[in-house]
Amino acid sequence: MSHSFHRQLVYTIKDRCRVCFTCVRECPVKAIKIINGQAEVINDRCIGCGNCVRVCSQGAKIPLWSVDAVNELLKSKSRIAACIAPSFPAEFAEIQDYKLLVGMIRKLGFDYVTEVSFGADIVAREYETMIKSSDYEGDISSDCPAIVYFIRHYHPDMVPYLAPIASPMVAMTRVMKKKHGDDLKVVFIGPCFAKKAETTEVDEVLTFRELREMFDIGNIRPENTDPSDFDPPHSGKGAIFPISHGLYYTANNHEAIPEERVIIAEGQANYKEAIKEFEEGYIRKKHLMLLCCEGCIMGPGTSPAGKRFARSNAVGEYVTKKLQNIDREAWDRDIAEYSKLDFSQSFTPEDRRLAPPGNEEVLHALQLMGKFSPKDHLNCGACGYDTCVDHASAIVNGLAETEMCLPFAIEKLHDSISNLNVSNEKLARAKAALKQSEKLAHMGQLSAGIAHELNNPLGVITMYSNILMDEAPEGDLVREDLKLIVEQAERCKKIVSGLLNFARKNQVNLVETDVVKFMQHSLNSIIKPDNISFSFESTIADPVAKLDIDQMMQVLTNLEKNAIEAMPDGGNLRVSVEGDADEVTFIVADTGSGIHKENMDKLFTPFFTTKEMGKGTGLGLALIYGIVKMHKGKIHVESNTELSQGPTGTTFRIIVPRGR
Ligand code: ADP
Ligand code: MG
Repeated sequence: MSHSFHRQLVYTIKDRCRVCFTCVRECPVKAIKIINGQAEVINDRCIGCGNCVRVCSQGAKIPLWSVDAVNELLKSKSRIAACIAPSFPAEFAEIQDYKLLVGMIRKLGFDYVTEVSFGADIVAREYETMIKSSDYEGDISSDCPAIVYFIRHYHPDMVPYLAPIASPMVAMTRVMKKKHGDDLKVVFIGPCFAKKAETTEVDEVLTFRELREMFDIGNIRPENTDPSDFDPPHSGKGAIFPISHGLYYTANNHEAIPEERVIIAEGQANYKEAIKEFEEGYIRKKHLMLLCCEGCIMGPGTSPAGKRFARSNAVGEYVTKKLQNIDREAWDRDIAEYSKLDFSQSFTPEDRRLAPPGNEEVLHALQLMGKFSPKDHLNCGACGYDTCVDHASAIVNGLAETEMCLPFAIEKLHDSISNLNVSNEKLARAKAALKQSEKLAHMGQLSAGIAHELNNPLGVITMYSNILMDEAPEGDLVREDLKLIVEQAERCKKIVSGLLNFARKNQVNLVETDVVKFMQHSLNSIIKPDNISFSFESTIADPVAKLDIDQMMQVLTNLEKNAIEAMPDGGNLRVSVEGDADEVTFIVADTGSGIHKENMDKLFTPFFTTKEMGKGTGLGLALIYGIVKMHKGKIHVESNTELSQGPTGTTFRIIVPRGR
């Protein structure tokens, strides 16, 4: 009989998976795939060992649930037998008398309740015959379904060594069908959920945990149950099967299998090593008794937090009592009757090994995790793989993700944090700039209002003082006074027009301009003190932009004048033009005193000046601000006043769109 079906045994509840990779680490065959940080069991690769279910602290791995299917069976007209695994005393230690447990199972609606250990008795004899045969070449026990899947999927060349003998569960099923007819339905109840995928010969498989659920749902308790004994055939020493040397002792009941013929290996590390050594020929003509768990008594279908030695003790005590009361004659009769059945089992290889990925691909995957040389391979195991190379290979095979690498993730986190800091700073600056421009907008409104109101009275003052001045005789003292009034009124008008500029009340008249020539021209129109050297530079390929030349000229000359005024003891004024396809940048840089930090956000406020009375109006930069805004441009200022931090000076950058 061949095994070629494999039910999905483990399901993932995605919301619960918290990316700890413990299941990846504990999966002996790397049947767990991480996609978008979520662990998913790949059924094709799974051997049903249940490790992932056992180790997931979040309960994100859920084993196949069979209670509903069993309830359906129980509702049907078929006769149904419950065959309970010999490890039951380990699970139900709190039920003092096993007969109560049998009664409780009957209450669920089963027609027969038997012990699988009779199947173990039979199977032990089959093993003994095989091991003692003259052409015996060694074998691997085939009673643990997870081990069987492990061999079929990952050591397919070893399949011929799998003992061609049915498991105690299957053997018991055949016995029960022989006894009660082929239409009998069989439900196995045990500590293991790999059993759910072992064979189609058994109709359903329940774990002990599921059995407890059924008791709970039906409110079936020892206190409300009548004791009842197992149905025949009754077992002998097979009951000891689930504790470590189980099979060996069971066989010994009949006639000894020499101890040196048997190698026992339990648990992931041990069985893998044993199979490897067997495959490599270090172990010959031996019976390899392999179990995926640490004895069936600790199987994933048992209640969690069970104590291993207490459980083993419970099984031992049960068997001792059982053997004291055994009806030896009946047992011999049953063995004689049923051992005539066929207990053979055949297995087919189903290779699920992944082809090793190419070196280059692995190297590339390593590089994506920032691992460029062997010293970058920390092999920390945080990803669930033993080595960085294993992890990289899994990435290439589509089983793992780069982000699973903890050192890589930490580095990325650091990067994100510093990026975040940079963005934060940018945000803070943008916020400050926004505040500043809001303030300026308010001032703009105010200034525009004042300027508008002052314009008319100023006009009247200018006009009438001019008239009076014309009428006053030459040399008259009053004429001199009137001249002063006219001059000061003119000055007021200038200030008012400066305010109007700032308030953006003027329109721009954009014309195509050669910005290089334009900037050079701006330099020519200012007075150059002797103690200052001037330089001009242009790196722009295409010098054409649309500007309001009158207003933009004011911008440049004001910047240049400020620069010169900041260098009373001489220095260097560098003027340059840069640009790209969209924008041109006018740069005015001086080596002057610099601007103090606390003044930086006041620069563009009308009337802000640090110059002495009469020297500065504080309207230059306000005007520049208004004009540049009208050009939809930006102003950048960099300045240093501290010699300790490098040469002092200020650089203004006026960036305006080309306007095309
Ligand atoms: P004003 O030149 O009339 O003072 P501005 O609006 O042109 O008014 O400039 C405002 C203030 O900005 C100046 O008083 C000065 O403190 C500062 N400032 C402007 N440009 C420079 C510069 N190149 N170097 C140092 N300080 C400057
Ligand atoms: Mg100025």
